[in-house]
Amino acid sequence: MKTPIEIAGATVSPDHYINGKRIASADTFELHSPIDQALLGRISEGRPEHVEAAIQAAEAAFPAWSALSAAERKPYLDRFAEEIGKRAETLCQVESRDAGVLLSRMRHGVVPRAMLNISWFANHALDLQNRPIETEQAQHLVRHAPAGVVVIITPWNAPLMLSTWKLGPALAAGNTCILKPPEWAPLSCSLLADAAQAAGLPPGVFNVVQGAGATTGAQLVADPRLARVSFTGSVPTAKLIAQAAGANLVPCSLELGGKSPFIVLEDADIENAARTGALMYRNAGQVCLAGTRFLVHERVAEAFTAAMKAQVEQLKVGDPRDESTEVGPIIHPRQVERVAGFVERAVASGAKLLWGGQRHEFGAQYFQPTMVAGLKQSDEIVQNEVFGPVLTLQTFADEEQLVAMANGTDYGLGGVCYGETEHATAVAERVRTGFIWINSFGIRDLAAPFGGIKRSGVGREGGDWSFEFFCDVKDIVVPKKPFRASFSQR
Ligand code: NAD
Repeated sequence: MKTPIEIAGATVSPDHYINGKRIASADTFELHSPIDQALLGRISEGRPEHVEAAIQAAEAAFPAWSALSAAERKPYLDRFAEEIGKRAETLCQVESRDAGVLLSRMRHGVVPRAMLNISWFANHALDLQNRPIETEQAQHLVRHAPAGVVVIITPWNAPLMLSTWKLGPALAAGNTCILKPPEWAPLSCSLLADAAQAAGLPPGVFNVVQGAGATTGAQLVADPRLARVSFTGSVPTAKLIAQAAGANLVPCSLELGGKSPFIVLEDADIENAARTGALMYRNAGQVCLAGTRFLVHERVAEAFTAAMKAQVEQLKVGDPRDESTEVGPIIHPRQVERVAGFVERAVASGAKLLWGGQRHEFGAQYFQPTMVAGLKQSDEIVQNEVFGPVLTLQTFADEEQLVAMANGTDYGLGGVCYGETEHATAVAERVRTGFIWINSFGIRDLAAPFGGIKRSGVGREGGDWSFEFFCDVKDIVVPKKPFRASFSQR
């Protein structure tokens, strides 16, 4: 075992979790905190032998796990959720230190949701086999069979939330899983392995293999023994994963980036819109579903800009472990450079800063909440995901122009639309996107579909959509009348 990592009085294993055991690698990589660049420890780096061991363990565990009914699997998953709950404060402290996520958000949002991600899908799976289709001719017993070994790959901006959101339905459906956590923030996923072990999940049902995407991740997704790959991350990585899995015809679910519009109509409640607008800086803007392109009616642009500026001036940038902090650090020095580069190039080509634009004095990986205006639709910062606390603002004169701008990128993940409800809903109907919030933001019901169109992804997660992906659907056809073979039959 490599040296355990100590965070806020808790111990986190830096090793893989394969077949119910901690396995150390000879090779390791360094893990630093985005808060202050402190070295947190060295993490075991997955090599081909660890990938192979995890796939073999998951394959060996599949027959018994998949043979259980959903009702028999549910107690395991309920205990898994409970064990996550027992580690709640540790998970909060660890992910805050490791990924820079706000402690307040971890305590009040992420950890309760992670528990629900496991228990809700365990419950929902009970109903899966119970949806026959009746026709005049036959009864179709539609069966959702577990697909097999599933690889789950998650990004650093929300490792615990996104890993459990995939693990819940994958396990509840009867699959066995291999999780490859993000190399910049792997620690909460290591704690998940502790929770799974304490919950008595049979060895091999849930495995964690750590390592870099280009090596460990690439080896995992190229394996022909997989039944599914479920990925959340960036567009370039998704293309590589789709190619590798596609070579074996392994289905992929791809949840990718966004450049979602935040629309403020002429009849919007400006103060409310501005308050929600300031939320887009949460997690230092490293949120795929944030509305990052503000499209504001020209008649209310001045009032909205003043109201949002007043909100942003009150935001507290700082250490995410302080419950009162609202904007924390950016995950990695490379990401800080990337964010700053977007702003520098926009300003150099004539854009105007409404506020922010610089690194924040709090520390090396902090950036001021920033708003860039004076832009053309074709500008790089309008078209590409920044994934930092940098938003853009454009104005529109009429609805046709608004719709063209809203739909004028290659992304189509989310959206926010502020205006009189009926009006905002009518505008939302015309926005090409996976989901859009009316006069609100971030309402996520587990039963609802989640996912993007265009470059924002392939497939949907949530409710039945998760099970459609993680299961092989089979139709057992039972005729209602005695069947007589005939060549003329349809
Ligand atoms: P990334 O694509 O660089 O990495 C994501 C994961 O993929 C990591 O675990 C990484 O190790 C792994 N990976 C990298 N190369 C791989 C390869 N060749 N084969 C297999 N695995 C590989 O993304 P990131 O920078 O960690 O995350 C930020 C991105 O994630 C943003 O684009 C953001 O919008 C997106 N995201 C999307 C959603 C969503 O639900 N749509 C949610 C959160 C984040």
